[in-house]
Amino acid sequence: MPAEIISLGIPYIEQTDNRVYVCSDVNDNGNEYVIRIGTSIEYAKYLVDDRLDSFVVALLPKAMRENRDIRCLAPVSGDLLYQINEYLIPVCSSKMEEYHPVRVEAEAAGNLTECAGAAATGYSGGVDSMHTVMNMTDAGKSPFKLTHLVIANCGAYEGGNDEEKLRFFTEKALGGIVNDTSLDLLQIDTNLHKVHKDEIYLSVISYRLSACVLALQKLFSVYFISTTYEFAKFSFDISDSAYADLFLLPYLSTKTTKLYSTGGQKPRIEKLMELSDYAPARKYLHPCIYTKRSTDCRCIKCCFTKVALYALGKLDGFGEIFDLEEFEKNKDWYIAQAIVNRNIIHYGEGYALLKEKGLITGKAEQMARMISAAQKVADKHKDVISGMNGGQ
Ligand SMILES: [Zn+2]
Repeated sequence: MPAEIISLGIPYIEQTDNRVYVCSDVNDNGNEYVIRIGTSIEYAKYLVDDRLDSFVVALLPKAMRENRDIRCLAPVSGDLLYQINEYLIPVCSSKMEEYHPVRVEAEAAGNLTECAGAAATGYSGGVDSMHTVMNMTDAGKSPFKLTHLVIANCGAYEGGNDEEKLRFFTEKALGGIVNDTSLDLLQIDTNLHKVHKDEIYLSVISYRLSACVLALQKLFSVYFISTTYEFAKFSFDISDSAYADLFLLPYLSTKTTKLYSTGGQKPRIEKLMELSDYAPARKYLHPCIYTKRSTDCRCIKCCFTKVALYALGKLDGFGEIFDLEEFEKNKDWYIAQAIVNRNIIHYGEGYALLKEKGLITGKAEQMARMISAAQKVADKHKDVISGMNGGQ
């Protein structure tokens, strides 16, 4: 039995110049802090402040990891409470040894009946979120039609100034995809990455995003979380919760707000193929790991997206996104990267297609051998250095 308890206080509202937050005071065995989840003043009326759903979800991985029950001083939606206690925690704690079988203690509340019925998805401009936008704005493909895009700040943006990055992504979307699709855009801002600094974002991504969504249950009736992994690769992975989204999201949903994992029906290269004929993707795709980047970026995501589009024969349509001349000049280097990194999931798909189409050049193979040899030498040096450090 867990000896210690995390308590969650009654939710309350706080307002700043441009946002309204729903907050709860956390007491983690004497360590006190506040969790804040907020949005712009325009959307503040949709914040849920009569129950602790979003805060419980935000705390769940920490509670399971640290073997602490969560005691709630306000109610939690009855279905969510049941799903978490009877399914989510028992399964996660039996599949991952880092997680313990804790309990959430709370009074069960009836479901919210007030909901504006919005259908939303998070938007980064990357391949997965762009593909969801493409699919879900076409009424023929799904019974749900997107009404809102969300830019959520809950730990995805590494380093730097959060406010600046939120503004950058918002302005980029407002000046681009929002005009082409006439979807509404809202921001969700949290301090989760600041109060739970010891959590690596990917390890808790499903919980963080769900917490953001549940804070606005009066707005969202359905919410699509775009996955980068194929559903068939489902697993319980302590370092990346999204592999288990097919299990987690239904149990983190309420009768009012249903969360779906989407996009895992097919490999990413197929999504890219479909996107290559979608006009907004040709203008606004942002696969980059950096918030701001130039069109000749060589970050891993830009690289494997360029390689995959080249392998698909579709790179030419993306001249507004990538520097095509730079790619042409350094094509062998890009192909060499695909060879060297072919065991990395998304590179692997591009590599397989390059090979199938006979696009791997002799020069690229030679460069790949050189890169691999240089990496081996560098790794050897690293081993020697860490061995030296270990001996001190
Ligand atoms: Zn990049």
